[in-house]
Amino acid sequence: MKRLLILGGGTAGTIMANKLAPVLNKSEWQITLIDESRLHYYQPGFLFIPFGIYSPDDVTKPSRDFYPSGVEVITTPVDVIEPKDNRVRLTDGRQIGYDYLIIATGCRIHPEEIEGLMDGGWRENIFDFYTIEGAIALANYFKYWEGGRLVVSIAEMPIKCPVAPLEFVFLADWWFTEQGMRNKVEIELVTPLPGAFTKPIASRYLGEFLQRKNIALTTEFAIARVDGAQKKIVSWDNRDVAYDVLVTIPTNMGAEVIVRSGMGDELNFVPTEKHTLRSRDYENVFVIGDATNLPSSKAGSVAHFQSDVLVENLLRAAERRELKESYDGHANCFIESGFGKGVLIDFNYDVEPLPGKFPLPGIGPFSLLEETRMNHWGKMTFRWVYWNLLLKGAEMPIEAQMTMAGKMRQPA
Ligand SMILES: Cc1cc2nc3c(=O)[nH]c(=O)nc-3n(C[C@H](O)[C@H](O)[C@H](O)COP(=O)(O)OP(=O)(O)OC[C@H]3O[C@@H](n4cnc5c(N)ncnc54)[C@H](O)[C@@H]3O)c2cc1C
Repeated sequence: MKRLLILGGGTAGTIMANKLAPVLNKSEWQITLIDESRLHYYQPGFLFIPFGIYSPDDVTKPSRDFYPSGVEVITTPVDVIEPKDNRVRLTDGRQIGYDYLIIATGCRIHPEEIEGLMDGGWRENIFDFYTIEGAIALANYFKYWEGGRLVVSIAEMPIKCPVAPLEFVFLADWWFTEQGMRNKVEIELVTPLPGAFTKPIASRYLGEFLQRKNIALTTEFAIARVDGAQKKIVSWDNRDVAYDVLVTIPTNMGAEVIVRSGMGDELNFVPTEKHTLRSRDYENVFVIGDATNLPSSKAGSVAHFQSDVLVENLLRAAERRELKESYDGHANCFIESGFGKGVLIDFNYDVEPLPGKFPLPGIGPFSLLEETRMNHWGKMTFRWVYWNLLLKGAEMPIEAQMTMAGKMRQPA
């Protein structure tokens, strides 16, 4: 028997287990999946909790509900990967060997990386919404907040779902309007980027949105520290931004097991071949989702597109055939823009988000780089799609590779 080990049973690991279980011959392969948690979170839903749109129950389900039968599931933290010996050690002392390893251990926020962030005000007037605990604490805070300066600060890139901070400020603009207190709330987005987003055309478009919604934007702000006593954030070039409530997206880093295993870069992301998804260092190790060091977005849609490429390459590797260089960096994100509308972007390593129709060229029903009600419904339906189709590895009507069909070419 050959053993395929999947480390991490979040979005990417669960999709891979569901796609591989039906195609790997059960008399030849044992699939084992290891995760430390028994719960699966629909992380895109964290965005909606502070505004009372989703409850914690809407975004949490038992992980086991999504693992296919025939896959051995171990619920224990992995202490270390020993890639030279083709095995992992668990924190309970067990050792599990493998022939092929898929690393899908994701990434998480590290507020302790920013000086002062946790020294005064953490979860009192400083919050995150990248964890369920942070999102719930912020929901409770917003219920009784009487207004002031709301500052949303991105510490450094890359972060999971780079559009989530923008969605947060758009939703805040809508929510405080609904509460009849928008005139009492100043909203400011502070980013290390030169604009609202990582890619120029979308950045221009979304920057105009911010202006229209009276949301201030401070760019190229590399945060050095938080001064909780003075209620301000300070950059390395000594600029400061005052806040009454600070919503932070702290440094995102790959899982600690990657550091302990000596397999990561300076942010614990695993060096990965850009188009094949094989580890740059080990022939029988593959990497998917947020754990990679790739310049693609860290998003569930990306994990889904990567999974098609990875299934094929894993089968090729097992048959000692050449890998296909077919992952093109494809990412697809609905951006909730408030007041029942949304924007959709679709892009890859080389092509930035462009206007057009999606997924059917000329028809849609979704519009690219345009604010529509249909895009909002796409975003809201995504939760159902995630639990019922995406995680279960079902065929979706969107190709893993990005297509130019339906897109208008527009110069940068
Ligand atoms: C606020 C927010 C909004 C988002 N919005 C969107 C969106 O609109 N669209 C979109 O596509 N994506 C969105 N995302 C991003 C998306 O949720 C992630 O990109 C996706 O979940 C990544 O999947 P993953 O499998 O790589 O990581 P995860 O799903 O995080 O899974 C990693 C797993 O590894 C396990 N693990 C880690 N270390 C160990 C260890 N040592 N031992 C055992 N198990 C371990 C963890 O328990 C976890 O289950 C959003 C994320 C956030 C936080």
